[in-house]
Amino acid sequence: MKENKCGSCNYCCKVGYLLLSEKEYKKLKKIKKFKAKKGYMLSLNKGCPFLIKNECSVYKFRPQDCKEFACRKLISQKIKQNKDKK
Ligand code: SF4
Ligand code: SF4
Repeated sequence: MKENKCGSCNYCCKVGYLLLSEKEYKKLKKIKKFKAKKGYMLSLNKGCPFLIKNECSVYKFRPQDCKEFACRKLISQKIKQNKDKK
């Protein structure tokens, strides 16, 4: 499995919404039943249903929305890594 760069942080698995594509919705629905609003909007306000023991249980198949979240914490880590390489 790919490394989870978020470590123990799962802040963005607990706030807001995930906008799923139809394909993502169908794939995740096969793994576990969950309710989504019209347009495949999944509320995370009670925690993502795929967040198990504070880890993403579907990390390999996580939706594009999760992959693309522009986290300042991860961006600053990347900047530091790039500076360290110089
Ligand atoms: S993307 Fe950022 S805020 Fe979200 S879980 Fe990862 S480290 Fe935390
Ligand atoms: S699918 Fe995984 S990474 Fe995305 S919100 Fe849910 S637990 Fe977090």
